[in-house]
Amino acid sequence: MSVLAMHAVSRDHGAGAALVHALREVTLSVAAGEFVAVMGPSGSGKSTLLTLAGGLDTPTSGQILVEDADLGSLGAAGRSALRRRSIGYVFQDLNLIPSLTAAENVMLPRELDGARVRQARREAAHALQEVGVGELADRYPDEMSGGQQQRVAIARALVGERRLVLADEPTGALDSQTGEDVMRVLRARCDAGAACLMVTHESRHAAWADRVVFLRDGLVIDATAPRTGPEALLQEAP
Ligand code: ADP
Ligand code: MG
Repeated sequence: MSVLAMHAVSRDHGAGAALVHALREVTLSVAAGEFVAVMGPSGSGKSTLLTLAGGLDTPTSGQILVEDADLGSLGAAGRSALRRRSIGYVFQDLNLIPSLTAAENVMLPRELDGARVRQARREAAHALQEVGVGELADRYPDEMSGGQQQRVAIARALVGERRLVLADEPTGALDSQTGEDVMRVLRARCDAGAACLMVTHESRHAAWADRVVFLRDGLVIDATAPRTGPEALLQEAP
C-alpha cells in the first residue's frame, strides 16, 4: 500500500516572464517500509516536492494522497491534523522552537494532537534516545551544537506513529559518523513500516535507500534501485 502517492503533480511559481515550473507532472509513490532518496542539482525542485508531499504547499495541478487521504480535498484543519498525526518533517533549517527544551520540542506535535503529557514525555525521551541525544532532553536549542539540534529535529519528526517521514537534507550539519547514525535510524524506521522520502546530495547516504529518484528542472529524469534492485544483487553475488 502506498503511504504517499503523487499523480502528475505540478507546482508553478510567479507568472509571465517570472514564471518558474518548480515541479512538472511528477508521479511518485512511496510504499510502507520503503525508503526513497531524492537527488538533483540546486533548484531542481527537491524541496518543492517535499513541501507538497507534506501538505505544507498546494500543487498548481495534480493529486497527492497520504494514507489514501486526498490532500486537495481536506480543508486546512484536516491537513494540519493529518500532518500532526501521520507526517514527520525534518526541515532544511530545522525550525526548532528556541524557548522550548529538546524534550518539549519533540513533545509538542504529540501534545497538539491530544496525547497525555506523561505519554508525550515518555515518547519524546525514547525518540531522543533513538537518535543518540537522550541526555540533552532538558537543554534549549541554543545550548546545543548544530549537529545536536539536527538530531532533535529528527527525533521530533519520528515521535509517535508517523507513517510518512519527509527529510530535507537531514544530514546537512552533521559530521560523517553522525550522518551515518541518522541514516541507520531512518532505515530502521522504514524497516519498521514507515515510508520515508529524503532529499540528499550525498550518494553514500542515498545508498541507504531502496530507490533513488533524480530530479532536474522539476522533472523526474531517472530512478534507480541501488540497494535492493536485481542489478545490485547480481553485482554483489560472488
Ligand atoms: P531544490 O530544493 O532542488 O534546490 P526548490 O524546490 O527549492 O529546489 O526550488 C525549485 C525552483 O522553484 C527553483 O527555481 C526555485 O527558485 C523556485 N522556487 C521555489 N520556491 C519558490 C517561491 N516561493 N517563489 C518563487 N520561486 C520559487
Ligand atoms: Mg532544497
